Amino acid sequence: TSQRDWARSDTYHNSFLLTKDQALDDALKNSTANGLPEIAVSAAQGKFLMLLAKSICASRILEVGTLGGYSTIWLARALPEGGKVITLEIDEKHAKVARENLAKAGMSSKVEVVVGKAVDSLAKMNPDPPFDLIFIDADKVSNLHYFKEGKRLVRKGGVIIVDNVVRYGRVADPSYSDDSVEGVRTLLDGLKDDQEIDATTIGTTGEKGYDGFLYAVRK
Ligand code: SAM
Repeated sequence: TSQRDWARSDTYHNSFLLTKDQALDDALKNSTANGLPEIAVSAAQGKFLMLLAKSICASRILEVGTLGGYSTIWLARALPEGGKVITLEIDEKHAKVARENLAKAGMSSKVEVVVGKAVDSLAKMNPDPPFDLIFIDADKVSNLHYFKEGKRLVRKGGVIIVDNVVRYGRVADPSYSDDSVEGVRTLLDGLKDDQEIDATTIGTTGEKGYDGFLYAVRK
């Protein structure tokens, strides 16, 4: 199978399970118009994140890697009254577009966009109560660092999701190497003997390619 088949499968399933969504469509359109790369999660993946957050009654969510706030809107929609998403973004322009998109989606009061290197923003964080859910989707070389910080910042029983851990199967191909693939391998290596985490990889192959989420629960 190929990218065309994967995309067709998403389109097919989405035609039963997702409805037209003006706020999310507008967010993508505005992001593209501002020159942001088209690397947001897919609609099906965004909905998965929203359903996951709802399932665990997440009221405090941390995202690493905002881009135009597409996944942020999905996550914010899962929040109960008084809930909050904090999302970290290095790029001023991405953060500006995200704030526009969040405002248009009516989510501004539920989301804080923090601009800066995620390493620095994370180091300053010490939330009480801790986060229920953390979504890691930024520079892949720093995956293990973000994951370790995520572990420090998430509650026991809380969930950490890391995006793009399959990468067209390249992560598992010993003849292949690039910085992002190495970032995933380093993460997996760090998890091998981690007694405080229970994790699995879930395939997400669809319109955004042959890929997967790491799904981890803090014991
Ligand atoms: N989560 C977004 C979504 O699905 O809509 C997509 C995020 S995009 C894949 C990754 C983002 O991480 C980019 O906007 C990029 O600027 C940001 N980023 C890259 N390195 C970063 C760093 N060191 N600290 C914070 N953000 C970073």
